[in-house]
Amino acid sequence: MQELLEKLIEKHKPVCNKGKIPDYIPILREQDPFGLGITVVTTDKKIVSAGDCPTRFTLQSISKVIALILSIMDNGEEAVFAKVGMEPTGDPFNSIYKMEVFSYSKPLNPMINAGAMVVSSLINGKTVSEKLERLLKLVRDMAENDQIQIEEEVFRSEWEQAHRNRALAHFLKELDLIYDVEDALAVYLRQCAIGVDCTDLAKIGLCLAQNGRSYSGKQLFSRHVARLAKTFMVTCGMYNASGEFAIRVGIPAKSGVSGGILASVPDRMGIGVIGPALDEKGNSIGGIAILEDLSCEWNLSIF
Ligand code: GLU
Repeated sequence: MQELLEKLIEKHKPVCNKGKIPDYIPILREQDPFGLGITVVTTDKKIVSAGDCPTRFTLQSISKVIALILSIMDNGEEAVFAKVGMEPTGDPFNSIYKMEVFSYSKPLNPMINAGAMVVSSLINGKTVSEKLERLLKLVRDMAENDQIQIEEEVFRSEWEQAHRNRALAHFLKELDLIYDVEDALAVYLRQCAIGVDCTDLAKIGLCLAQNGRSYSGKQLFSRHVARLAKTFMVTCGMYNASGEFAIRVGIPAKSGVSGGILASVPDRMGIGVIGPALDEKGNSIGGIAILEDLSCEWNLSIF
């Protein structure tokens, strides 16, 4: 395993050259465009890493999966899906387009920003910090790492420039889908700024692969909730490249603008990848290349 992972990192490092670091969150520009790392954690407890794995990065959109899990645990499926849909959009993650043009009464799914803000604002807790404490606890429990923190500097950097997300939140307020614009935005942008490394991500992926059971065997949520999360990862997890990713790789996965990818191979393994250079759809360009080879090599596609 070790040898293969190292080989794939070396093989795909050059492709990072073709990707770009996003610049709409100023602090992300400091990431290494040639960084590439991967950790695999298997159901029989092997942990194997290669490349730039110790690198810390923020969850960004990957947090949407965990917020969805907590929100469903808190409110039940029916209440959550009364306010957010289940359909892929085919549009960019921060698009407002379909909601406005077709007069939808709710965001199309929980993996786009509008949907994620609704989902996160439903998390139980009287204040922004209570909601975030509970979300942080679930992230720590899934990764089995108490050191995981919100990176306040990353949050600040995005908060100050969050004009599009603030506009989306106002839109949601008008539709009566959130209670308070600034609070919804504060929860959402802070959850995006939760800092992890590849091993944390791989363990989170393993927990989903084991139907809600963590690396050391704690049942954190039901098999049904894990199934919902993995299904959204397949249909909407890789932005508007989710269809192609399902065909080429075939693993439930969620990526984020920091270049992280959370992947979960049911009953087999969790995978965490980092590669900050992104392709034109916003996915880690090196990360996708590695996952495609790995899926082929180990026959990981669920289809
Ligand atoms: N915090 C980012 C945003 O809302 C997350 C985007 C992403 O990772 O796709 O724009």
